[in-house]
Amino acid sequence: MDFELPESSKMVRDTVARFVNEELIPLEPLTIRREAERGYEDTPIIPPEIEAKLQQKARDIGLWGIDVPEEFGGQDLGMFNKCLVIEQLKHSVVPFVLPPESPNLFLLKELCKGDQIDRYLLPYSRGEKKSCLALSEPGAGSDAAAIKTRAERKNGKWVLNGTKLWISNARRSDFMIVMAVTDPKADKRSAYTTFLVDKGTPGLTIPTSFPMIGEYHPYEVVLDNVELDDSQVLGEVGSGFAPISKRLGVRRLEIASRCLGLATRCLKMMIEQANTRQTFGAPLADRQAVQWWIADSYQEIEMLRWLVYQMAWKMDTGHGNVRLDGSMVKLQGTEMIARVVDRAIQLFGGMGVSKELPLEYISRMCRVMRIVEGPSEVHRWVIARDLLKNGLPSI
Ligand SMILES: Cc1cc2nc3c(=O)[nH]c(=O)nc-3n(C[C@H](O)[C@H](O)[C@H](O)COP(=O)(O)OP(=O)(O)OC[C@H]3O[C@@H](n4cnc5c(N)ncnc54)[C@H](O)[C@@H]3O)c2cc1C
Repeated sequence: MDFELPESSKMVRDTVARFVNEELIPLEPLTIRREAERGYEDTPIIPPEIEAKLQQKARDIGLWGIDVPEEFGGQDLGMFNKCLVIEQLKHSVVPFVLPPESPNLFLLKELCKGDQIDRYLLPYSRGEKKSCLALSEPGAGSDAAAIKTRAERKNGKWVLNGTKLWISNARRSDFMIVMAVTDPKADKRSAYTTFLVDKGTPGLTIPTSFPMIGEYHPYEVVLDNVELDDSQVLGEVGSGFAPISKRLGVRRLEIASRCLGLATRCLKMMIEQANTRQTFGAPLADRQAVQWWIADSYQEIEMLRWLVYQMAWKMDTGHGNVRLDGSMVKLQGTEMIARVVDRAIQLFGGMGVSKELPLEYISRMCRVMRIVEGPSEVHRWVIARDLLKNGLPSI
């Protein structure tokens, strides 16, 4: 048993840390300003020309295709290294992600077959195509099994009808992964199918966007008699639920890694401020309230770190319970960052809530995280149900 990071992982981590310091931190004031100024518009927070340059720089220093298998042109460094990358990137609030995003990559790599590999998986792996997941609906969010979007067989085609809600990146995606009911009478294991729907497919519209707290701006997606061939079915007909659940597990791990990075940034800022800011003739560091904020934040961050690393390691070594572990890391990460950023804001006082610092941005961003990809209450429920049914997992 060895808790030391392998040298190769330290190299990945340090390379991303340098990239963040040199390229992303200088862009924070622009990020904060653009997020504040865009108001109801869905203007990208990073200007596209800057995003393209960042992607090129990341590629030049070898930060590309971290968790993409070698056969698809990637580095095959696995989920553990991808989590290190995501954590480091989130030492900055600049919403830069290294394509491809892991959750959809995970799904496509598991399920693409035949010419789907060339049409979707490879361009997605290379960062040439973007995608989104269209699962939630007006009547089905936490309870994803309640979706009503139907895919019916008519004249040798699949015909999709329904409305999807809160779909992130829908207008920027080249294709969507859409979940629909193919057999309304069947149980959860065989009622749902996932489809690959290209941008511009007749009947597919994105009529409304929803400005939200923080940097979020998801969309409504309407499918009105969208006709698809069999070649657009992702995976097997009727077997959509299990792979989507696993994909959500990957997203939850990714969210927890982001929380780790954001919280570490907050804690570094807290320590620096506590040591330099004087009130009533003494540094804030001398006050017990401040010391407790720092001590509690550090412990909570480290507890999450080991949950994240353990889940990533389990995924890379092909064991573990993605559903249970995903619920745990997501719950711990999103609730921890809320506490840490709140303490950081309190420590900084007026500066904490100003747009001079990234803390108010982080606090609004992280509020959403306790709702997306399943609210905290549902994750507690998932964990409890698993333990009550199966008992404690062995270590
Ligand atoms: C910014 C943003 C981006 C999103 N992006 C996407 C996306 O790209 N693709 C996609 O498919 N979806 C997306 N979603 C949808 C998201 O996953 C859902 O909002 C989330 O799952 C919660 O569903 P809901 O909003 O319908 O809330 P509901 O399901 O109505 O739940 C409301 C509240 O009820 C409580 N609750 C619900 N069930 C239980 C329970 N069993 N026990 C105890 N309490 C419970 C919780 O407190 C919960 O917050 C996004 C949402 C947001 C806000």
